[in-house]
Amino acid sequence: MNLIDAPIVAETAYRHGVSVGDPTPTLDKLNRPLRDLRLSVIDQCNFRCTYCMPRDVFGADYPFLTSAQRLSFEQMVKLAKAFAQLGVEKIRITGGEPLLRRGLESLIEQLAKLTTLSGKPMELALTTNGSLLAAKARSLRDAGLGRVTVSLDAVDDAVFRRMSDVDIPVSRILEGIEAARAVGLAPIKVNAVVERGVNDSQILPLVRLFKGTGVAVRFIEFMDVGGAGGWSNTKVITARETREIVESEFPLVPIVIGQQMGTAVNYRHADGAGEVGFIASVSQPFCGSCSRARVSADGQLYSCLFATQGTDLRPWLTETASVEQLAVAVRSRWIQRDDRYSELRSTVRKPGSGKVYPTVRMSLVGG
Ligand code: SAM
Ligand code: SF4
Ligand code: SF4
Repeated sequence: MNLIDAPIVAETAYRHGVSVGDPTPTLDKLNRPLRDLRLSVIDQCNFRCTYCMPRDVFGADYPFLTSAQRLSFEQMVKLAKAFAQLGVEKIRITGGEPLLRRGLESLIEQLAKLTTLSGKPMELALTTNGSLLAAKARSLRDAGLGRVTVSLDAVDDAVFRRMSDVDIPVSRILEGIEAARAVGLAPIKVNAVVERGVNDSQILPLVRLFKGTGVAVRFIEFMDVGGAGGWSNTKVITARETREIVESEFPLVPIVIGQQMGTAVNYRHADGAGEVGFIASVSQPFCGSCSRARVSADGQLYSCLFATQGTDLRPWLTETASVEQLAVAVRSRWIQRDDRYSELRSTVRKPGSGKVYPTVRMSLVGG
């Protein structure tokens, strides 16, 4: 689609009865509402996690987005307003490494003023590798950030360095977590991707480290997304296997289903000293309840983490297009959505299935 016919599409969508501000949820073809927005603010990162941005692909000459190609904060706020009109209740800021985006606090300040359709404050969270968090936790909190999730795959420095492929010690990430806790960015979650033979030795040390601190550790199955070129089924440690490893030392009690939130299946330590979560994105997909839209730092809307192509929203991010027109464009795309890649993985990945993979880069859409 080009810039000229964009407003025509918006008008057409209106004519087909797609209206904005309607309190009924925006449902996709599988009846899933649009509730969460993952907003990527930058595609660059100071880490080179082997499962996400392997150094041989993301080298010095990698064509990252230029600052001119990235959306401005003004455009991101406009986006967030449009998504709020469509029923989004939570915005997660991500990247690449979002804390590399200069002046991020000013974006957060503006997003924190938004309300949901039901008049509640917009939930605002950030996912980060934690390396710059110690310096920024206070200003992020002051700007209005609600919660932070820190990715940390190991406690042991050697394993951490091997996985992140940078010369940063684990202590720096722990300082970031502590700073976030100290300023009240709570509850803090720590996400660890588990890759067989790489960091499975770190499952118990991670649980030991955070037990009783108020920080919930969540283990994520290694997924076959974008940058994960070396992915194979044999490298996936299932959530069930991970839980059995945790339970070999720490008795866990499942949290009642009705109290479960989001993608993780959460357990409590039997002695009450906190929670551990397991995200079974590969072995037990949760596509049926997937209410997430992702927008890359250059304004492409992705309806699934495994999408091969996005929808360009930039035609509606110009000064001449209104928030309402942008919302209509997003809604028109969402109501066409039928993605459920993780449920279809075994069929889709078969050689000769005709599908094109790898998918969009994780560092572009932000996980
Ligand atoms: N740089 C930030 C960070 O690491 O938290 C935000 C962006 S990162 C792409 C978001 C999340 O995606 C991280 O928790 C990371 O571990 C996860 N991730 C990246 N590649 C993955 C893969 N192949 N399988 C599972 N999770 C992955
Ligand atoms: Fe960077 Fe996060 Fe990807 Fe690691 S997972 S390379 S920290 S974007
Ligand atoms: Fe959602 Fe796509 Fe992941 Fe399924 S595979 S849970 S539709 S992002």
